[in-house]
Amino acid sequence: MTHPAPSIVWFRSDLRLADNPALTRAVEAGRPIIPVFILDDEAPGRYRPGGATRWWLHYSLRALADSLAGKGARLILRRGPAETELPRLVKETGAGAIFWNRLYEPWANERDARIKTELRQRGCEVESFNARLLAEPWVPKTGGGEPYRVFTPFWKALVALGEPEPPLPAPPRIEAGPAVAGDELEDWALTPSAPDWAGGLRESWTPGETGALGRLDAFLDGDIATYKDARNRPDKPATSRLSPHLRWGEVSPRQIWHAVRHRIEAAGGGAESSAWSFLRELGWREFSYHLLYWWPDLPERTWKEQFLDFPWAEDEAGYRAWTKGQTGYPMVDAGIRELWHTGWMHNRARMIAASFLVKDLLIPWQKGERWFWDTLVDADLANNAASWQWVAGCGADAAPYFRIFNPLTQGRKFDPNGDYVRRWIPELARLPDAHIHAPWAAPQQTLDAAGVRLGETYPVPIVDHQAARKRALEAFERIKKQA
Ligand code: FAD
Repeated sequence: MTHPAPSIVWFRSDLRLADNPALTRAVEAGRPIIPVFILDDEAPGRYRPGGATRWWLHYSLRALADSLAGKGARLILRRGPAETELPRLVKETGAGAIFWNRLYEPWANERDARIKTELRQRGCEVESFNARLLAEPWVPKTGGGEPYRVFTPFWKALVALGEPEPPLPAPPRIEAGPAVAGDELEDWALTPSAPDWAGGLRESWTPGETGALGRLDAFLDGDIATYKDARNRPDKPATSRLSPHLRWGEVSPRQIWHAVRHRIEAAGGGAESSAWSFLRELGWREFSYHLLYWWPDLPERTWKEQFLDFPWAEDEAGYRAWTKGQTGYPMVDAGIRELWHTGWMHNRARMIAASFLVKDLLIPWQKGERWFWDTLVDADLANNAASWQWVAGCGADAAPYFRIFNPLTQGRKFDPNGDYVRRWIPELARLPDAHIHAPWAAPQQTLDAAGVRLGETYPVPIVDHQAARKRALEAFERIKKQA
């Protein structure tokens, strides 16, 4: 009896069984299935997952392998350039078809196009799908057929496309393909060992599809109701924290969209505006992918040409203090320390910390972007690049350059009782609310009573914000004159 040629499902940033069109298509094709994940460390540095996302990947792959095993299939792990590994796997298994879900990072995009051509030439059926976005990044276009440069009209165009396709259910069963050799996950050493810096990450997250759906459910049962008003408060657990799950595609934006819409309908009336404010943030994610698609050098190159000549400063000591959460500005330092501990930082804190790096220290945004790439569990090429450029003032639809975040007033407004600062900077915990965001201005007696010794237990500010602001505005005036 001859066996039918198996199908390969190539998992990449879609580590889930539900709403996975490539997997569903393979099951519908009715042939045995070989699921594979390839660790492609040949990717240029900029695309290679950083330390925190590699940690996440380890657990997410383990969860995926378990779910696949529960359905009857075995996840094959391979390491090497996908352009070599995939054709090799086709040859070894006699696969007649390959299915995958699309990536939008420029390097992966080009590579996948080459792989598709080569495998088709060899007579293999190759099909790819959208599983990562609500709409393909090339679909929303202005009336003049141009890409959008401003978020609000982009968002309106996205909503006008209508509801995204309903999510697909996970297949009930997967027929396993022939046995194939693969790597052991432990041998990839994706998790740190000496030193093991991942204790805080383990405490904070449950990577994998079940963890992602649990997080979504918990958010829909609770914080979404107050999201609109509380989303800017880093002291409250008010946002979804779905970003790292979205990074590896353990849940899809379509699943999130429909789950939210379903709850809105079930709840009626009041919940609607808060839920829309949440969906709009998913819209920012789509906008980042739209920008990356049309401007593939977004992660490297300043989007607004005018900023190409910006007089950035070399400030290695300032950069080091920033990365350690030792700038002397509690709101900046709390954000960075939250990142060190959990691999995640609240969006408001990201904006404050990023603004401090590029405006108070005049350090190029690319340097902060690279550091976030290595430390964030949700490090995402499109979101990270677009957000850094937005904060720096050189990106699409960015705030005007002269709007410089003041860490003190931001702290007082968005962490009014100092709970966020106290949580991440225990050495300031005993300062009264009135001084928690500006220890440098507290009376000596107050500092003594709280056990704070400036310059010893907590730094004095490494720059004076008002002077730094003036310096940044002068630098901006210089490029404005040249433009
Ligand atoms: P929620 O508020 O619950 O939002 C839901 C989802 O919407 C998020 O998971 C995310 O996918 C998307 N989203 C929310 N805010 C934004 C935004 N401003 N831009 C794009 N998408 C958004 N996000 C990343 O996913 N990866 C990154 O590498 C990244 N780097 C950033 C760097 C800087 C300097 C800044 C200012 C922001 C960055 N963001 C990044 C955007 C944002 O901070 C995070 O998406 C958000 O904090 C994730 O938390 P959440 O899932 O609780 O968000």
